[in-house]
Amino acid sequence: MAILEILTYPDDQLRALCEPVTDFDNPEFQQFIDDLLETMHDAPGCVGIAAPQVGRPIQVVAIDCSLARHPPEGHHGLMLACNPEILSWSGMEVGREGCLSLPDYTGNVVRAVEAQLQFQDRTGQTQSHMLTGFEARVAQHEVDHLEGRMFIDRVVSRRADMFPRKQYQSRRSKKSSN
Ligand SMILES: [Zn+2]
Repeated sequence: MAILEILTYPDDQLRALCEPVTDFDNPEFQQFIDDLLETMHDAPGCVGIAAPQVGRPIQVVAIDCSLARHPPEGHHGLMLACNPEILSWSGMEVGREGCLSLPDYTGNVVRAVEAQLQFQDRTGQTQSHMLTGFEARVAQHEVDHLEGRMFIDRVVSRRADMFPRKQYQSRRSKKSSN
């Protein structure tokens, strides 16, 4: 197992259109998944990661909302999703997002409230889950990575809807100390 290097914006590899996974039995592919999961677990509070973030342009994401500081109700735990597709979605809401590849910022992004996520697990078996709220948001964020899209591409205004992390944290701590 190994912790992989996380690429950060504006690395060109984050803009790759990722290839589908076809050979699930490949031991090197299985090793890569173990490394991707270890890399996700190494980053505190990280609830999702996509293969292109570690420089591998294939359609693999990991989502695990149980790792959130405040895990949302009804989450599905770890979903290692190969060739993920959002089959349907409904509702829209604004929420704050961060990304390992943009460590210094968070941003307000509009996402669907509910999303039907279909994918193949690491053995190639098809699964489908209806996700809601924060978990649906994470899935949409990670699937975007596979098309070379990052959350900054979706904020309405980089000036009004993006926030330096330090400033955000110090504001919060100031607020909570009152
Ligand atoms: Zn991200």
